[in-house]
Amino acid sequence: MILDGLFLGGVAVGGLIAHFAGVAHWIFPGVLTGLAFVLLFASAVYRRLHARPLFLPRCPHCRTRPEGYDSGGAQWPRETIRCGACRGISEILYQGSGSQAEEASTVPRLRVRWPYFIGRYKEIR
Ligand SMILES: [Zn+2]
Repeated sequence: MILDGLFLGGVAVGGLIAHFAGVAHWIFPGVLTGLAFVLLFASAVYRRLHARPLFLPRCPHCRTRPEGYDSGGAQWPRETIRCGACRGISEILYQGSGSQAEEASTVPRLRVRWPYFIGRYKEIR
């Protein structure tokens, strides 16, 4: 829903610009602007709303992408999750900060990388 809204907003803006610039086919620049809007703003909006990225990480324990994770409770910007396949516990950092990454941890830790809204992860040891 967030992505749709951003995309449509971008299409509208791009389409209008193309229209007033006298471009006959406004759809194409409109769609391009829509995609640019999504890339530029989606991550910021997701972070602001404390929304999870589209995709959850591959489990650091069993190296699979389980059907689901149990949430052990989220305390933004971190969340403890339990793998639905192997019951392994991991921690996700939604906002990267060096001090958090350096704290001692007994469970594998994953940090979300750009672009945030899609959900790419880096494992921190
Ligand atoms: Zn697992």
